[in-house]
Amino acid sequence: MICKYCSANIQDKISFKNLFIRNNIYFCKNCSEKLNIFTIKLDKYTLFYFSTYNNIKNDIYNIKYYKNVEYSKKFTYLFKLFKNKYNSFDLITIVPSNIIRESIRGFNQIEIICNICNISYEKIFYASYRPKQSQLLKQRTEHSFSILDNKIELVKNKKNILIIDDIFTSGNTLISLAKELEKVNPNVNISFLTLAKTI
Ligand SMILES: [Zn+2]
Repeated sequence: MICKYCSANIQDKISFKNLFIRNNIYFCKNCSEKLNIFTIKLDKYTLFYFSTYNNIKNDIYNIKYYKNVEYSKKFTYLFKLFKNKYNSFDLITIVPSNIIRESIRGFNQIEIICNICNISYEKIFYASYRPKQSQLLKQRTEHSFSILDNKIELVKNKKNILIIDDIFTSGNTLISLAKELEKVNPNVNISFLTLAKTI
């Protein structure tokens, strides 16, 4: 049998002890120690994530900066586990990439990860970029997120929305997206899913 994450061979002898490894027998011992569907509460929202950033940063680097998109495949099984366990979302969407950065890098890695891992999502947000007059010398950019005009009706009818991103750091982006959704649908339940969480 082959590990669903790193493709290492898993010993065929499945010992009694191995059966109790956290994630079941589809991951090798090493991967099952670092991968799972972790859950934390973030204000009133739930954040799901698969690992801590340090554990999988090489894979994320490969996807995000070296554009080795085939590394996204490694997450297919985790997404499948997630979908089986949490199937109550009536809308799945992704964080929009910063327009400027996307045009430099040429792609939105979250879109690619979802496409490769068979996650159907609806693009409902767009990000606009506004350099602040007084802050032109600073590298930090100002983001503002909005819901696409033609998706507002869609959001109004949903009960459970999932927003997917690659890395969770401060949560600022995810929370500001959640607030946009709540403006048009105050009763909606919002959760986040990221591949990794920084500590
Ligand atoms: Zn493995």
